[in-house]
Amino acid sequence: MINKPIVAGNWKMFKTPQEGFSFVEECVNLLLKIKEVNVIFSPPFTALFHIESILKHTPLALAAQNVHYADKGAFTGEISTDMLSACGVEYVIIGHSERRHVFNEPNDWINKKVLTVLRAGLKPILCIGETLEQRKSNETQQVLKEQLVAGLAGVSENEMANVVIAYEPVWAIGTGEIASVAQVTEAHGDTRNIVEDLYNHNIARNIAILYGGSVKPENSEELIKCPGVDGFLIGGAALKVDSFTNIIKIVQDNYPKE
Ligand code: PEP
Repeated sequence: MINKPIVAGNWKMFKTPQEGFSFVEECVNLLLKIKEVNVIFSPPFTALFHIESILKHTPLALAAQNVHYADKGAFTGEISTDMLSACGVEYVIIGHSERRHVFNEPNDWINKKVLTVLRAGLKPILCIGETLEQRKSNETQQVLKEQLVAGLAGVSENEMANVVIAYEPVWAIGTGEIASVAQVTEAHGDTRNIVEDLYNHNIARNIAILYGGSVKPENSEELIKCPGVDGFLIGGAALKVDSFTNIIKIVQDNYPKE
């Protein structure tokens, strides 16, 4: 269990800088009373700089949706950690299922990105999760292990203090299909056990493991009460002020206290 749960909104390829600015301004006003949740906005690259100008006066944080693992160079279309830091970014989503499955990002790239992000003083949100076929063939635990072992290779015990993990079953992302309480509890327990095997009990106990996959205001109370769930990574429901801010309030009211 962590001190404060995390709710991160992944906007994917939605919202212009102006739309994003207005959206964040509205959310900030509605979230003034939220002290017990770490709220993170993850807009497209083009909106980061603009939105930082609002967030720098608040405790709310900014995440990028991707990064390149090289520091600089001839990588047309890519963005470096220095560029993200200069925009006030604190977190970077790495290995999102759309990056893995639509853009074919392999585990070794994901690992290089995790290492680059940590060494730049930023915090990776490492996404892991099984496809429907893998779940049906009882491979979920093995897939989570493979993704964690590969993604965290070379990450030191100290660096683990800055790592966030997001369990996002691929079949539940953007589909309206929600993992059951039993499935979420089991996958979060397995994830924590794998981290304990790779590191130690303390690191496993203190790491934030978020759930992602069709989280909405209607299901967020039961999901945040699942043992081992420390918050959410949200796609669709993070694009509307009402649904995003309602989920954050539900998390603040229902995340179990130690
Ligand atoms: C996501 O994009 O990480 C996600 C979980 O999307 P959605 O909430 O729409 O399923």
